[in-house]
Amino acid sequence: MHVSPIHTVSKPHSEKLRMVINQSTGLFSPNSMINRRDIKGFPLDDMRHLGAGLLAHHKTNPSQHLAVFKSDVAEAYRLLPMHPLWQIKQIIVINGEHKVNRNNCFSGCGSTGIYISFNRLVTWIAKRVKAILDLWMYMDNSFGINKEGNLAWYHKYRWRMPLNQVKLLSLWDKLGIPHKTHKQLFGEKLTIISIEVNANSLTLTLPKKSLKDLLEEPDKFTTWLKTKQGTSWTPLLAEDGRMAKLELQHVPPLMASTEHFLSKNCR
Ligand SMILES: [Mg+2]
Repeated sequence: MHVSPIHTVSKPHSEKLRMVINQSTGLFSPNSMINRRDIKGFPLDDMRHLGAGLLAHHKTNPSQHLAVFKSDVAEAYRLLPMHPLWQIKQIIVINGEHKVNRNNCFSGCGSTGIYISFNRLVTWIAKRVKAILDLWMYMDNSFGINKEGNLAWYHKYRWRMPLNQVKLLSLWDKLGIPHKTHKQLFGEKLTIISIEVNANSLTLTLPKKSLKDLLEEPDKFTTWLKTKQGTSWTPLLAEDGRMAKLELQHVPPLMASTEHFLSKNCR
């Protein structure tokens, strides 16, 4: 049996807190028992796939207006039960009582791969069995293309929604996959996995806030490097803070320090 500590972290772009069951703490933590080679290589779709789909539609029928949609699975990782022998490695203590955490945890090193495998299968069914051809998935987000005005009635939300989205939600309902009204969105313009998509002007744009954050990162990194005066690789910084000439012997400590910076600030 292994007991994992519980704490909270702030949610990005939100004032809410996210509960974390920390599976990395301790000598015999569950994450320390997972071979890194076993949790690599789970593919996700991204804007390249959606962009190619939009271009293909416009090429085939330039006058056809399009909409994009995105749907989000509620609870995501937590939907999936773990093997009983793994469940005893993720015990938690609440008010002094030991509880068996039976489902997939967000903080598990293997959790992402498990969830992607599941959602890949669901997406495969949606595409191959339900014929939602223009559909892609990124973690618990599914997104796709629909001809503008090609709507259908979705009884659960009592809305007219894009036909392909209705077909997807109906499949989820049949499989018992939960979802919430406010996270099922559609339109000509939509922000999908943090990128603003316009289905008819064929543009993919980084939102202003994300762009500002991105541009600030090099400054934060440079400022952080300056705080490390006296270490063996400070000669890398020129007077004005820019990177000076990079000698080969400086690369390993710089990479190690960069990794440290990223792990503290960007993950
Ligand atoms: Mg979700």
